[in-house]
Amino acid sequence: MQFDHYIDNARVAPHTGARIDVVDPSTGEPFATIGRGDATDVQHAVSAAQRAMGDTLDGPWAKLSPVERGNLLFAYAAAVSRHADELAQLEARDTGKALNTARTDAAVLARYLQYYAGCVDKLHGDTLPYTAGFTVLTVREPIGVTGHIIPWNYPMQIYGRSVGASLAAGNACVVKPAEDASLSILRLAEIAAEVGFPAGTVNVVTGLGGEAGAALSAHPGIRHISFTGSTGTGALVGRAAAERHCPAVLELGGKSPQLLFDDADLDQALPVIVNAIVQNAGQTCSAGSRLLVQRAIYERVLDRLAQQFARLRSGPPSMNLEMGPLVNAKQHARVRAIVERVQADGIRVAARGTIAAGASGAGYYQEAVLFRDVPPDSELAQEEVFGPVLAAMPFDDEDAAVALANGTQYGLVAGVWTRDGARALRLARKLQAGQVFINNYGAGGGVELPFGGVKASGYGREKGFEALLGFTALKTIAIRHD
Ligand code: NAD
Repeated sequence: MQFDHYIDNARVAPHTGARIDVVDPSTGEPFATIGRGDATDVQHAVSAAQRAMGDTLDGPWAKLSPVERGNLLFAYAAAVSRHADELAQLEARDTGKALNTARTDAAVLARYLQYYAGCVDKLHGDTLPYTAGFTVLTVREPIGVTGHIIPWNYPMQIYGRSVGASLAAGNACVVKPAEDASLSILRLAEIAAEVGFPAGTVNVVTGLGGEAGAALSAHPGIRHISFTGSTGTGALVGRAAAERHCPAVLELGGKSPQLLFDDADLDQALPVIVNAIVQNAGQTCSAGSRLLVQRAIYERVLDRLAQQFARLRSGPPSMNLEMGPLVNAKQHARVRAIVERVQADGIRVAARGTIAAGASGAGYYQEAVLFRDVPPDSELAQEEVFGPVLAAMPFDDEDAAVALANGTQYGLVAGVWTRDGARALRLARKLQAGQVFINNYGAGGGVELPFGGVKASGYGREKGFEALLGFTALKTIAIRHD
C-alpha cells in the first residue's frame, strides 16, 4: 500500500518521489509507505489552503456563512462515526494500539467535531463601553492558514481537538502527522473532501519531523501553529514560530502526579490510577506516571496495586488486552533502557505485568512495571518515560505532597484522592498543572474541558471553547458618530 499527501482535495505524490516505510508495531514488519514530504510539498499545501481562504476572506471556504461551516462540521462528525471501524483498524495497525482503544479514539474525534460544529454560530464579539460619541465593537475573525503538527500517540483525538477547533473558527489547515501514525489522518482529509469541504480547506503533508515538520513551523504563510509532542521538539517549533511572530500552542510532555491521601476511597481510586498509566501503553502526555501515597496506607496500596499490575497483559491490537505494543523500535529501546537503568540504580520493582503468549517476539512489547520508593530526584521521578511505568513514593503530610507534586519541570495534569473537600480544593489551587481532577483522573479527558500545561508542559490551551477563541483574531472596531 502506498499513501500520498492529501492536498487540494486530491492525493498528491511527494515531489521528490521519496517514501518512508510504515511498520506494524505488533510484528515489526513494514506494510505500507507514506510520502517523505519536504518544504516544496509544504509550500504546495499552504498555497492550496491560502486559495481556500482567499486574500480578503473571499475564498470558497472563508466565504461560507457560520451556519454552512457548522453544518459541514456536523456532516464531518457523522461521516467519522460511519467510518469509525475503518479508521480504528487503520490506526490499530499503524500504531499498535488495541482495537478498542482506537475505536474510542474515533468516537472522541467525532465528538470533537460535533462539539466544535455546535460552537460555530455562537462565536461572537462584544460591544464595549468607551468614550461618549463612540460605539466600539469586537469581531472574531479567522487567523488564516493554521499548521498542525500531530504526534503518534492519539492522532485522531489530537486532530479532532486542533483541526476541529481551527475549522470551526473559519481557518484552513495544513497538517503534518507523525511519521509513525499518518494513515488515519490521511483518510480523515479524504473524508473531509467527501462531505463537501472545499478544496484546500484540509491538507495533509506526511514526512519526517526535521523536514516536513520543520518546514511547516517555519513557513511564513502559516499564521498559527499547534504542536503536541516532546518538550525538546516543542522548543524548536516555538522558536521557529517566534521568529516570524506566529502564535503557537505547545502541548508538551508531563510527569503528572496522583496524590492519594489516607482517607481516600481506594476501591474507587486504584483502578483509575492503574488505567491512567497503562492506557495506550503509557504513551499519553497526561499519563498519571507518579503516584504519591500517604505513608499510613503506602504498604496497603502497593500490595493492592501489585496484584493489579501482575494481571496486566500486552498483546497485539486484535487481542484487545490492557495494552498493545509501543509505537516503534526507538520508543521500545528507549523505554526498556530506562527500566534497566532504574533497576541498576537500585530502585525496586513492586510488580510487573506480562506479555501475552500470542504476541510476536518481533513486536515492540513492554510489560507494565510498578516501581516503589522512587527517590523524588531520580530520573524516573523527574523524566517522562512514555511507557507503562509507574513511580510510587510515600509522603507524610499535605505540604510534603504538594512539594513533591510540584517538584518537576512539568505541569500538565494532577489527580487528588481524598474525602476531605476543603483539602481537595486547597490542593487544587496549589498544584502547578493545567488540569486538576479530584477523586477522578481524566488523562487530559473531556472534549469540553480546556487542556494544556504550565512550565515545561507547554502553553496555550486546546479543547473546549477556550481553544476555539485561540484560533481567532480579535479585531476591535471603534466608530465615532457624534
Ligand atoms: P516528537 O516531539 O519529536 O514528534 C512529535 C511530532 O513532531 C511528530 O509529528 C514529528 O514528526 C514532529 N517533529 C519532530 N521534529 C520536528 C521538528 N524539528 N520540527 C517540527 N516538527 C517536528 O516526538 P517523538 O520523537 O516522536 O517522541 C519522543 C518523545 O516525545 C516521547 O518519548 C515522549 O516523551 C514525547 N512525546 C510526547 C507526546 C505528547 O503527547 N505530549 C507525543 C509524542 C511524543
